[in-house]
Amino acid sequence: MMQHNRCSSSLVVNPLIDETGLPAFDRISPEHVEPAVVSSLEAFNEGFKTLEQGWAMGSPKSYEQVIDAMERVGAPLFSCWSVVGHLTSVKNSDELRAVHEKMQPIVVEAFQKVGQSKPLYDALNSIDKKTLDLTQLRIVEKEIKSMERSGIGLEKSMQEKFNKLKLESAELSTKFSNNLLDSQKYFKLELVDKVDMEGLPASALGLYSKYAQDSGHDESTPEHGPWVITLDGPSYVPFMQHAKSSKLRELVYRAFITRASTGEKDNSVIIQRLLVIRKEIASMLGYGSYAEMSLATKMAKSEGKVMDLISLLHGKTMDYALDEVKKLKEYSKMDKLNPWDVAYWSERLKEDKFEFEEEALRPYFPLQGVLQGMFDLSNKLFGIKVIPADGETSVWNPDVGFFTIVDEQSGKKIASFFLDPYSRPAEKRGGAWMASCQGRSNVFKRLPVAYLICNGSPPVAGKPSLMSFRDVETLFHEFGHSLQHMLTEIQHSDAAGINGIEWDAVELPSQFMENWCWHQDTLLSFAKHYETGQVLPDELFAKLKAGKNYHAGMTMLRQLQFGALDITLHSSKYDPKGAKTPFDLQQELSKEYSVIPPLPEDRFLCGFSHIFAGGYSAGYYPYKWAEVMSADAFAAFEEVGLENDAAIAETGKRFRATVLSLGGSRDPTEVYREFRGRDPTPEALLRHSGLTSPLSKL
Ligand code: ZN
Repeated sequence: MMQHNRCSSSLVVNPLIDETGLPAFDRISPEHVEPAVVSSLEAFNEGFKTLEQGWAMGSPKSYEQVIDAMERVGAPLFSCWSVVGHLTSVKNSDELRAVHEKMQPIVVEAFQKVGQSKPLYDALNSIDKKTLDLTQLRIVEKEIKSMERSGIGLEKSMQEKFNKLKLESAELSTKFSNNLLDSQKYFKLELVDKVDMEGLPASALGLYSKYAQDSGHDESTPEHGPWVITLDGPSYVPFMQHAKSSKLRELVYRAFITRASTGEKDNSVIIQRLLVIRKEIASMLGYGSYAEMSLATKMAKSEGKVMDLISLLHGKTMDYALDEVKKLKEYSKMDKLNPWDVAYWSERLKEDKFEFEEEALRPYFPLQGVLQGMFDLSNKLFGIKVIPADGETSVWNPDVGFFTIVDEQSGKKIASFFLDPYSRPAEKRGGAWMASCQGRSNVFKRLPVAYLICNGSPPVAGKPSLMSFRDVETLFHEFGHSLQHMLTEIQHSDAAGINGIEWDAVELPSQFMENWCWHQDTLLSFAKHYETGQVLPDELFAKLKAGKNYHAGMTMLRQLQFGALDITLHSSKYDPKGAKTPFDLQQELSKEYSVIPPLPEDRFLCGFSHIFAGGYSAGYYPYKWAEVMSADAFAAFEEVGLENDAAIAETGKRFRATVLSLGGSRDPTEVYREFRGRDPTPEALLRHSGLTSPLSKL
């Protein structure tokens, strides 16, 4: 079925091109990359050209002639390139990085060419909608919309202007993040006096000493200094939380909130220009504002809906946040709590009230026990069995496991996944993620296969891998994404699993799974000491839970403020060419959303990379949006009684049949309604965050 390209130098099939099964990880090495990419790219270009010619010869076209044909032509290049991408994340090396960098531009160019192909656009538009099922219709319409967003529907002269604006905007975003990085690098606070380091934990002192060594102080030690404080997260956060000296905290704080806001590295000009460009792009495509354009392809659909949710949460949260500040003030015995005091006193109060060594939890979470607990839960909820299948296929590291998922009722194998559990700093990137190794497809008759990647501590000296609670939550989160990828019943690959799901609905199954870690009976069913078998004590669980909701009011308000600021800046209510600067708007919203007013010189926006250098512009709100939905989904299980196994299984079955099965085949609002019988409400999120308890009891 597939092409049989061979390396010119030998008769052995290049394992990156061999598509007879899952990737042959034991045989792939960096020298295979270039020949594989080059030959699949040639085949792709050839195939795509033939398709374009075919499309140009008379219409209409059928779904199979356009979408399925594209899948066939694109698959070899796509799968080869995605394996290369995967390996750069989990098995990096100088050779691999070099060849990845070399190949990337030509691959990106090939994919871009598709997005800008007029024959493809015309072919899509020629498909007779009446011949399509609902899933196919959604796929075709989304594809057309996405091509239109790259300017394909515009007249020639407009298109040139459009492309110029797009390019300028990409350049400005890069400049924005470079300015931010540079200005962070530029700031270095060198301290030599031990008194100045009072309060800081050993891990922070180690980091500051390392920074001092990097700046030429070879003699620096964590105990005796000198120390260097910088403005990047791992350095800034512990300093604000623990440095006893309020004066030094103020100094570092002021530097932090004015990052990239003056001189050559000034981001405020970039912000202004970016907002103007975005508005213009939106207007060229026929939208009233950039926010309107962004929301048109999201579950929320409109600014009004987003702002309604933000206002509702704001109204329910304010009193709690005010109460938190009041208590913090009392505790600190300060007349005025300055912005640079908040993190410091919050930490002290938290330590006093319910701090415990997070490390003390690890012995209760050996990896094998946690996995078993998570698989048992999935069995109970979704009627699936997870079966170890090591040896069935090759892996990229001996610690990587392979599992098969079997549907309990039919006894049929429905999916598989790789689990790469441990950190390997030399070759694997940090964090945790789920990615598709292979998606469900009726064109190729393939079952879904997922990569589930974590970064836990490996087993040492006869001890099993012991996870932190945060690691456990993360594993559940990524498994939630994997379940949606693997349990899909959609056969059209562009809408199967996590494909084609709206940006603000993607985190539903992942955050939903996290909720189970906070359910005491579920957690205690597997949180057992790896040596003694003792179950995690109730009092430790209670402290864990109290810590989660500590200052939930202030944390929620902050997120709401970011969401509101992002939407308003991109809405028709704000004119980037008008007299009101983005900073004025920031101050204005602070009056409503901040319990500790920002300083007048606060230039937080100059460091807000999410919306000016990342993909979150008019799309920051989904953090809360998805949390509301996942908490509400979990509440469906609470309502039937978490101890009632039969009712839980019933509800789980419905979750599987809707959220986990339908993928991107339908509007997420409809999918959710089918599961829940109504739209999501924020009540459960507020309750889970402790924002419904009587204030006097807090
Ligand atoms: Zn996620």
